[in-house]
Amino acid sequence: MERIYLDNAATTPVRKEVVDAMLPYFTENFGNPSSVYQIAQMNKKAVDDARETIANALGANANEIFFTSGGSEADNWAIKGIAQAHKAKGNHIITTKVEHHAVLHTCEYLEKNGFEVTYLDVDEYGMVHPEDVEKAIKDTTILISIMYANNEIGTINPIKEIGAIAKAHKIPFHTDAVQAVGQLKIDVKDQNIDLLSLSGHKINGPKGMGVLYIRRGLKIENLIHGGAQERGRRAGTENVAGIVGLAKAMEIAYTDFDAKIEKMTKLRDKLINGLLESIPYTKLNGHPTMRLANNSNIGVEYVEGESLLLLLDMSGIAASSGSACTSGSLDPSHVLLAIGIPHERAHGSIRLTLGSQNTEAEIDKVLEVMPGIVQRMRDMSPLWEEVVKNK
Ligand SMILES: *Cc1c(COP(=O)(O)O)cnc(C)c1O
Repeated sequence: MERIYLDNAATTPVRKEVVDAMLPYFTENFGNPSSVYQIAQMNKKAVDDARETIANALGANANEIFFTSGGSEADNWAIKGIAQAHKAKGNHIITTKVEHHAVLHTCEYLEKNGFEVTYLDVDEYGMVHPEDVEKAIKDTTILISIMYANNEIGTINPIKEIGAIAKAHKIPFHTDAVQAVGQLKIDVKDQNIDLLSLSGHKINGPKGMGVLYIRRGLKIENLIHGGAQERGRRAGTENVAGIVGLAKAMEIAYTDFDAKIEKMTKLRDKLINGLLESIPYTKLNGHPTMRLANNSNIGVEYVEGESLLLLLDMSGIAASSGSACTSGSLDPSHVLLAIGIPHERAHGSIRLTLGSQNTEAEIDKVLEVMPGIVQRMRDMSPLWEEVVKNK
């Protein structure tokens, strides 16, 4: 059976060019970048070049790029590192109700350790309003952490405006840009970003690789104590293959960028409009336009999302009912609840996220099989029977 992978917000396949770039660093180029002989210095150069490539893609300087083990580590470092380094000034952090758990659970941990956190509401589309950020600022605010784009519903926040507010109040501004990188152009200087997290495996790069951008001069606690790697801030022998792979993935993501994003947006809209038109009682979750090119999230009434996922899987289609971290639990998604979707509708929501490898034929196939699956599920539902009777 043909397999159609539409869960690219959870992870993406590693591109062949990325694997090829990584391979030599597992075998002949095995040297430790901290050593002095040639095979090691070659690897130091590979790490330096990768840092430069990533810095260029973000509008940053190479010495502002710090490699981590992924997006979660970058989020943890940004938030705990700033909280720890600035606690003499205050203990207040501003974030939102729709962040990834890597941010939310880190903030909850800090709350147990004497910090105060404001979790901002978002509007019905999942967007944060800059004026709400400004209103939440106190004398004790030491960090604002607001995601660039949401991993469940794809809503894009007005990051530059929020960054400008943070800057005017001299408060460090962190953004979890794990979903935005590769789908939106980023310029940390222009967008007033002090700290930015990204992850390799969301952009066709390796898993277990990420970056925290830290604006030069910003005070932050070191993450891992040990050797002098990452300028002494995050010790440990570099994952050279991973670093090279991440840089290659970044480079590819921003090559022919506009054309690729335009094509993906067209496929996304075909999928969204096709599903909304062919399946009654469906609604788009998230923002109609300020939305990632790869994200569709559809509320399907009178079906149970987890069962819909299983039936789609049996037809070869991989999707998600929310964020991968919450599947397996029966709690409805915190993001869907935060945008005011009632429990029943949140349970019947499904996320289909595109990747650079998806084709129009695959979208056609989904549009061909999904309406029938939903109809069969509804035919077995007593709730649906009522709907039909009352029509
Ligand atoms: C995937 C994701 C993360 C976590 O990244 P990992 O590399 O898997 O640790 C953090 N934030 C967002 C928005 C994500 O989508």
